[in-house]
This record gives sequence, structure tokens and C-alpha cells, in this order.
Amino acid sequence: MAMWTEGWRSRFQAAAETRFDVLIIGGGITGAGIALEAARAGLQVALVEQNDFASGTSSWSSKLVHGGLRYLASGDWRLTRESVHERQRLMRDLPGLVEPLDFMLPVYVHDKPGRAALGAALGLYDLMAGKRYSHYMTPATFGMHMPYLDRTDLKGGFVYRDAVTDDVGLTLRVLIEAAAHGALAANYVRADELIFEHDTVAGARVTDRETGAAFDIRAASVINATGPWSDALRERVDGRPQLRPLRGSHFVFPFHALPVARAVTLFHPDDRRPLFAIPWQGATVFGTTDLDHEQPMDEPPRMSADESDYLIAAVRHYFPSRDLYAADAFSAFAGVRPVVRGEPGASASEESRESAIDVEKGLITVTGGKLTTFRVTAHDVLERVGQVLGRQFTRNTAAPIIHAGTTAAGRGVRPRPAYAAMPAAADDATRLGTTDYCLRELRFALVHEAVAHLDDLMLRRTRAGLLLCKGGLQQLPQIEPLVRDALGWDSARWDREVERYLAHWQAVHAPA
Ligand SMILES: Cc1cc2nc3c(=O)[nH]c(=O)nc-3n(C[C@H](O)[C@H](O)[C@H](O)COP(=O)(O)OP(=O)(O)OC[C@H]3O[C@@H](n4cnc5c(N)ncnc54)[C@H](O)[C@@H]3O)c2cc1C
Repeated sequence: MAMWTEGWRSRFQAAAETRFDVLIIGGGITGAGIALEAARAGLQVALVEQNDFASGTSSWSSKLVHGGLRYLASGDWRLTRESVHERQRLMRDLPGLVEPLDFMLPVYVHDKPGRAALGAALGLYDLMAGKRYSHYMTPATFGMHMPYLDRTDLKGGFVYRDAVTDDVGLTLRVLIEAAAHGALAANYVRADELIFEHDTVAGARVTDRETGAAFDIRAASVINATGPWSDALRERVDGRPQLRPLRGSHFVFPFHALPVARAVTLFHPDDRRPLFAIPWQGATVFGTTDLDHEQPMDEPPRMSADESDYLIAAVRHYFPSRDLYAADAFSAFAGVRPVVRGEPGASASEESRESAIDVEKGLITVTGGKLTTFRVTAHDVLERVGQVLGRQFTRNTAAPIIHAGTTAAGRGVRPRPAYAAMPAAADDATRLGTTDYCLRELRFALVHEAVAHLDDLMLRRTRAGLLLCKGGLQQLPQIEPLVRDALGWDSARWDREVERYLAHWQAVHAPA
């Protein structure tokens, strides 16, 4: 059990009599952000996550901490300004975890919007950041930076700046920070039922999915931060469904298959929807789609054959010399946007990405929003918590995310004291396959980051399962001793975990 979740069961049970100020249901970026801000405000906070932390939408985003040029195009200036502001703060507060990334934006002869409109939009984008980043390049210079991009009819293109992250790393980092401020967080604990006192929500009956034990957690204020699952909890307070779950899918290609040294924004040749190719963790992420997700939410989302064809058509159109097919990808992944349904007849892309807060029988539900704006969402929620508790919280927008004692190490997500103090092993520097992860990092995650299953390690504490052939099948024997040693698994447990992980990978991440 990880340092920051250690002893949670007894602490939760002991607290059953005293009751928490805030119980957060859902351990994605939204729940993590609220936990941090609430704990920072001095509240007693508990957070439960039914699977692994960040295993919902917060691991399957496009990994961008961005203003969202697209929102600017749709006239949503407030959201863009807010997001640009947050991007600047996160880059400042979390170096190594939220990193600036230059984007190339090619302009072709018949493109709409053309150079003038794009230039104006990017000028505005820079103005919001208070820094001039964007500039225009001739086709020759542009081509030098993006050698495999099709240059037929290329007029030139822009460079502008946004930022990139590891979405899971960000969520974990925020949770670890919340724990440093006293919050208690547990993964694999599901809220099954809400507890009511005088027709007002006063806690939740939860199940520890690792042991099957059920117990109550009581709190003065209960927050439903379950993202695309939020309508299910709202049913218990007679809330009418309000979500329009929208799926977005990505491919992860080996860098040599789709070599982009900088990110590139493209418009799909069929419907002009924006797409990105992003250099990420030594590979290239290409996506995304935006369509109604009609599968049940108890099944993990996966890329459909139509989405695969749609993305491959675009990548082949813009990078014809790479001759890419789905089978060339390392992996695929899909996530479901927890978007609040807007006007009837709106297309998927027209739906607003703003967050929304509802209070029903005391249950505070928060949905929508973006990874980028998690702090703003957390402050909005805390305001509602204040109304429930009869307290007023000042928006602490100036406080940096990083706690003094937990400066970044590794890829920027590790609390350094524990990382540095961990005993050295001879193979610490050995890389996991072709990834950048070294075995010391894996050992650290196993001991300090609440790993309960092999998929937690392969898909979230590291993203190696997305960055290696067949989910890293060949690398599993290499990590078996260190996983078994850290988690005390016997060989039968290891075999079961391998079977579980590979079956999941094949069903959800195999590119097809
Ligand atoms: C394809 C795609 C691309 C995106 N790209 C970007 C991007 O580049 N930049 C950006 O800023 N945003 C992006 N977003 C948006 C962003 O990813 C989401 O807004 C954000 O991750 C939502 O986080 P969340 O915590 O609200 O939901 P989730 O991450 O889904 O967390 C909710 C959690 O609640 C848990 N849960 C559900 N029911 C229960 C229960 N009963 N008990 C306990 N736990 C429960 C779930 O297991 C889940 O982990 C993207 C989204 C998608 C889908």
C-alpha cells in the first residue's frame, strides 16, 4: 500500500464516527483537484475511486494543457481565456510534468479558415497568454520542421505554443499533494449507495473491491466527481440524466512510423474537424474523434472500426510517404468526455466543454470541464461546499500546486525525499524495453504509488503498455521479479495478473 494511502481502511473506519467534512466520489482529475483545494482549505477530506486513480477519462485525454483554439473559433472566449491562464500557471508550477509544446499549423491553398483568420486567432491566443509565441513560416521553412507532411499546395504555416502533460501523472501528482495536506484517498473502493439523513445526502456506503468489505463513510458534504458515470449516482437523488457521453479515440504510433519532432494541428480532409499529432513519451499520439458513446459505462471504451478508418484516412492524407495503417500503431485508446447535453440537435463538436455543478438533496455533482481547468472547477465546487458547511472559502488562486517538501523528481511527479531515499539496486538504470522508464522508477511506483494490479503499473504509473508492442508482452518477464518482490505476489498471483492485463489490453488497446 502506498505511503499516501497507507492505513486508509482503518483511518476511514475510525473516521466513521467523527465524519469527514467532504467525501469525494471519483478519483479522476476533477476529484483530485477538489481534494487538493479542500484539504488546503483545512477541511477533512476523503476520496474514493472505484477502480484505479485516473482510470476513467483522465487517462485517455489528448494530453494537452491548452487554451483550446477550437473554443476560440466557436466564440467561447471566456473558456479559452480561462484555459490559457491555467496553462501558464501549470507550466510554471509543474515543470517537467506540464511542459511547453510548439504546434505547427499548416495552411494549404484552399484551406478555410485561411492564413488571415488563423493569424488573427493566434494573435488573440498570444494576447491572452501575455506573450507573443506564434509566427508564420514559408513553405520551405515549414517543410524543414515537418519533413514528412504533404507539401502539395502548402502555402506555409504557423507555429504556436501550448503545453503537454501525462494526464495520469498530473492526476496522481495532485492527489499526492492533497494527501500531503491531510486528504485520505483510496483506489478500488466503490461508492455503492448514498446515505441519507433527513432526505439529505450524508455519506456513502462503499465497498473495498479488493476484499469485498463494505463500510460507511459519513461526511457533511458529498461530491459526485464521477465524470461520465455521474448520472448513475444522480439517479439516487432523483436527478434527471443530463450527460451526453462523447467518445474520443487516439492511436499511439512508434516515433519512427510517424516522426513529428513538434506537434501538428491538422483538419480532417473529410469534415475539417481538428486533429493532433503529438510527440509524447518517445512515441506519436494521433487523434482524436468526437462521437456519441453508446456502449454501457461498465465496459471500458475502445476505438471502433469506423474511428480507426477515419483517423487512418487523415494520417495517410497528410503523411502519404509514411504509408501508415492501424497495424503500424503500438496501441489505441479511447475515453468518454463527460459533456453536459446542450441544445437538441447540436453536433458532438458543438457541445460545450464548460463544467457544470448541480446540487440535489445535498449531493454536489460536477461534470464537464477539462484537464487543463481542474483548479478552476475545484474552486467553483469549494464555493458550493462552503454554502453547505456555512463557511466561506477564499479562492486561493495564487498558491502554487507544489508543496515545499515534494519537489519534482523523475518525470516531475515523484516526491523527491522518498525517491532519493529509496535503496539503490544494480539494475536501477535499466530501461523498460524502448521506453524512457527505468526500473528504479517502476520500483518507486510499486512501493509508493498505490499499485494494486499489473495494469495499474503498465497503463497508468507508467504508460509502457501504450508505448510497447503488444502492451509490453516481451518485457513482462523482465519486471516479474521486481513486481512480485514489491507487492508480495506468489507466482499464481503473477500469472493471474498477467492474464487479466493482457486480456484487457487485447480487448481495449490492440490497434485494429
Ligand atoms: C478523447 C479526449 C481527449 C481529451 N483531451 C483533453 C485535453 O487534451 N486537454 C484537456 O484539458 N482535457 C481533455 N479532455 C477532457 C478531460 O480528459 C476530462 O474533462 C477529464 O479527464 C474528466 O475528469 P473527471 O475526473 O471529471 O472524470 P474521470 O477521469 O472519468 O473520473 C471519474 C472517476 O470516477 C470513478 N467512479 C465512477 N463511479 C464511481 C463510484 N460509484 N464510486 C467510486 N468511483 C467512481 C471512475 O472510475 C473515474 O475514475 C479530453 C477528453 C477526452 C475523452
